[in-house]
Amino acid sequence: MLSVEFPEDARVAVLTAQPLGRPFDYRAPEGGCSTGDFVEVPLGPRKVLGVVWGTGAGDVAAGKLRAVIRVLDAAPMREEMRAFLERAADYTLTPLPAMLRLATRAPGLGDPPSMRRLYRRGQGAPDRMTPARARVIELLEDYGGLAFTLGELAEQAGVSSSVVKGLIPSGAVLEEDAPRDRPYPHLDPALPGVPLADDQAQAAARLRTGVAGGAYGTTLLKGVTGSGKTEVYLEAVAECLSHGRQALVLLPEIALTAEFLTRVERRFGARPAEWHSGVTMAERRRVWRMVGRGGAQLVVGARSALFLPFRDLGLIVVDEEHDSSYKQEEGVLYNARDMAVLRASLAGAQVVLASATPSLESWANAEAGKYARLDLTSRFGDAELPEMRAIDMRTQDLPPSRWISPTLAAAVEARMAAGQQSLLFLNRRGYAPVTVCRACGHQIGCDHCDARMVEHRFLKRLVCHQCGETKPIPATCPSCQAEGKLAPVGPGVERLAEETAERFPDARVAVLSSDLFTTARALKAQIEAIAAGEADIIIGTQLVAKGHNFPLLTLVGVIDADLGLQGSDLRAAERTFQLMRQVAGRAGRGADKGLALLQTFQPEHPVIRAILTGEEESFWQAEAAERRAAGVPPYGRMAGIVISAPEAKPAFDLGTWLAHNDAPLRRIGAQLFGPAPAPIARVRGRHRVRLLIKADKGAPLQAAISDWLAPVKLPAQVRLAVDIDPQSF
Ligand code: ADP
Ligand code: ZN
Repeated sequence: MLSVEFPEDARVAVLTAQPLGRPFDYRAPEGGCSTGDFVEVPLGPRKVLGVVWGTGAGDVAAGKLRAVIRVLDAAPMREEMRAFLERAADYTLTPLPAMLRLATRAPGLGDPPSMRRLYRRGQGAPDRMTPARARVIELLEDYGGLAFTLGELAEQAGVSSSVVKGLIPSGAVLEEDAPRDRPYPHLDPALPGVPLADDQAQAAARLRTGVAGGAYGTTLLKGVTGSGKTEVYLEAVAECLSHGRQALVLLPEIALTAEFLTRVERRFGARPAEWHSGVTMAERRRVWRMVGRGGAQLVVGARSALFLPFRDLGLIVVDEEHDSSYKQEEGVLYNARDMAVLRASLAGAQVVLASATPSLESWANAEAGKYARLDLTSRFGDAELPEMRAIDMRTQDLPPSRWISPTLAAAVEARMAAGQQSLLFLNRRGYAPVTVCRACGHQIGCDHCDARMVEHRFLKRLVCHQCGETKPIPATCPSCQAEGKLAPVGPGVERLAEETAERFPDARVAVLSSDLFTTARALKAQIEAIAAGEADIIIGTQLVAKGHNFPLLTLVGVIDADLGLQGSDLRAAERTFQLMRQVAGRAGRGADKGLALLQTFQPEHPVIRAILTGEEESFWQAEAAERRAAGVPPYGRMAGIVISAPEAKPAFDLGTWLAHNDAPLRRIGAQLFGPAPAPIARVRGRHRVRLLIKADKGAPLQAAISDWLAPVKLPAQVRLAVDIDPQSF
């Protein structure tokens, strides 16, 4: 690492809220600074955090440069990490500072020194209890012994910091120095794992060989639900740890972490570091530092864990790699699966993409030989794959506003009689998707979005699923003022729960929907209760489709298998196939064989047929052929441009201007579609206009888009976002 002496210049990438495109030049501080150092620099009237991106003579006369204020006490950002952020920024067309924020947001670097002090619950009781004091104590107890900084604690409890300090003399709150170097307990890769079945052992050996090689490589680990993929990739983790390198396991859903941590503990004798939105800031700082110092061997986390400063990353596992939650859809738009491959290629690490229903992208990369592929085709042990059958809804006699067909109901009753669980799956949160006036036909919409309000009885409100706005359920129609005429139309999980309770009055019913749980802990408790057999019927949204093990569950009933096939999205078939196979895969993971029943009005639809027969390879081949013919991903490249503004006109004007000035795109042979209203044309009061770009696989799409957008001066209030590889097209 190059250390520079005063008065040389430092080019510093600055972490500002406004993502400024390029690093700024500063004068090095007395004592010098090095590439990768975290520094505090002046920016306008403020002091901001930055990273030294390079050193040497800048293009501004030295006298005019402002100086770096100080070098912060943090391990410098390694070259591999800087290269990763730069490449990720280039790929996603994100300004570098915005990318850098992803990698540094959490640790609270550069906070005032008071950050070094942490506050946790003590044994004492305050002499006088006030509501504010009680909130602080409750919060600390809620987080079971975790420590907070003063600022975090005050903010989260909604009190002033003097309230926290007032609790110290009595010993109700303890003040202590931040444990800056407390490493995570040692995971022992030499502990024996469970004995593996033959196909598991073969796959594990291949993964181990890859990891031992110490170079980049990606493997698609495709195994039917319940085949024991986790045990297999834990062997790859063991190999990685035994070489003294670090491993990262990405999960698509926080609710899956608890079970996974337990499995890791069983395998390696200790729990790994955890990284997701449910982890406190204090703990995140610890993870961030320990990862950088090598004091954390394994991190289990959400997609943003990819941006942790690993010292020596040897393996990244992306579990349920097809899951759409790996795509971040706000702020920096990136797909964690693709970024994992990028990071691993720079770190000399292996990637394992695990799924029962891989994305077409990964499937195609394996076909093309870019990824290795390992298949586990049977469930572990005696468990068999569930039988899949359609219920033709055209032949079922159902009264209006009822969704459980007689055939499905009979199957549920049979399971209840046998002491087994049933899952009724409906991918719709809330009570009813539409509230309509029976007098005038008016549908209640969101005031800020081009979307209907969804009735949530549990919350007793109408909720917009786009912007989160809620309002009370009105007594009269907002359009014609008719009284008592508003009626729910269509099913949501809450309404399905109501019907279930009526039909099966003796059943214990549990509803699993993300909006019903305020904390990750409550959700975890519910999942554990279900696994322990404390429910007869589980009603769930896609939250239940992901990876959970419910041993007593033997029946899955899909209320509306046709739901995802509507609309014009080219990925609709892929998504429906994945979701249905995943949901069905929840059944029969214990000793008894499972059954999945799909309620459908179109049992002859090719996608429904493929789901039922499970003939995946032919399904993927057909999908691939269609995408190839259309020249869309993974056989072509796409990007979306979304322009938004409070009024539609300036957004359309800019879109039209871009469409008329698309020479840089035409030069690479790309096609431009639009401007057109985005699939949801208004969100949070902003009108959205979309342009889609389609190019050949090898075309330099990012460079062309950069050239194309370079002359754009955004009018006030107008925003533009570039989405490389959009999820829907
Ligand atoms: P997948 O992720 O492929 O759906 P899991 O890894 O969750 O499957 O395994 C399914 C079930 O089988 C789990 O309960 C797991 O503990 C068990 N299992 C898998 N492999 C083994 C093994 N080799 N020995 C004992 N139990 C296993
Ligand atoms: Zn809204």
